[in-house]
Amino acid sequence: MSRVYNFSAGPAVLPEEVLKEAAAEMLDYRGTGMSVMEMSHRSKAFEEIITTAEQDIRDLMNIPDNYKVLFLQGGASQQFAMIPMNLMKNGTADYIITGQWAKKAAKEAEKYGKVHRIASSEDQTFSYIPDCSDLPVSEDADYVYICENNTIYGTKFKELPNTKGKTLVADVSSCFLSEPVDVTKYGLIYGGVQKNVGPAGVVIVIIREDLITEDVLPGTPTMLTYKTHADAKSLYNTPPAYGIYICGKVFQWIKAQGGLAAMKERNEKKAKLLYDFLDQSKLFKGTVVPKDRSLMNVPFVTGDADLDAKFVKEAKAAGLENLKGHRTVGGMRASIYNAMPYEGVEALVEFMKKFEEENQ
Ligand SMILES: *Cc1c(COP(=O)(O)O)cnc(C)c1O
Repeated sequence: MSRVYNFSAGPAVLPEEVLKEAAAEMLDYRGTGMSVMEMSHRSKAFEEIITTAEQDIRDLMNIPDNYKVLFLQGGASQQFAMIPMNLMKNGTADYIITGQWAKKAAKEAEKYGKVHRIASSEDQTFSYIPDCSDLPVSEDADYVYICENNTIYGTKFKELPNTKGKTLVADVSSCFLSEPVDVTKYGLIYGGVQKNVGPAGVVIVIIREDLITEDVLPGTPTMLTYKTHADAKSLYNTPPAYGIYICGKVFQWIKAQGGLAAMKERNEKKAKLLYDFLDQSKLFKGTVVPKDRSLMNVPFVTGDADLDAKFVKEAKAAGLENLKGHRTVGGMRASIYNAMPYEGVEALVEFMKKFEEENQ
């Protein structure tokens, strides 16, 4: 068996310890004589898995009691509709456009109400985060929406926008559990887990209780109503059981590493290694304004599309996989999520040095 350093933006690298544990429990989960994939979601064993998972993420993120944690399906993209269907009481919301994901979310929300795009960084190919200290927040906005870490462009909100008292909604798919977070600043936080938390198929929603109501837009399906899942503790119907089980193992792994403060420290150390190299390189160049750089997704270019392609190909041959940039931007992107070891980034930087020498 040989494993590569996997820089995929998602689905992405998972901690090796978690994969090994899951493998060991594959045929017989703790004396049940069956795999977690095979067991009833109403069984005692699964009840313990989901209850423990919820408690562990609550501990990690210090989630207050007046927030619910929901384990849902449909990916992050389904939240683009579910959020306005449930939260647009006045039929108005403000969106800050910092990349493709926020753009898609805004477009979807337009099906359900009025959308104001109150800030955008599209003028510079989303290479920065706009100043959000004094935005024209709509008087009747039901919420202000951000994509906190922009997976494709490699930017991150280092400071949350001033929402002028309105509810903040954040897509944290690609920065989930990467650093400590003050949950009380948000009304709703959600993320598809396949970037930094677990296998594709689960989306986690952390939502303040007062936002969970029966007063949703007419025609909202039962399955797309937060209250349905909150009342049933994410067991209204069959949940993505195996995915939740793996997420639970990742939560325990993060706890064992020292929690989110330790994750942040590790992530900063990894990102610094790569950004410091980019800043002095004569061949490679980071594409993001330094102050808005993501700790998780690091896009870079040589400025020559053929050379970029050569780099991606030779890196793959050297065991450094999935470094091709997003299809809409080109170049390269290294996603260095929680589970990417420091040694992986070291190997990447060593390879980049060598490539630079050979291609000057
Ligand atoms: C990947 C991603 C999405 C889309 O996730 P799906 O689960 O595929 O719908 C949305 N937002 C962000 C920030 C992402 O990185």
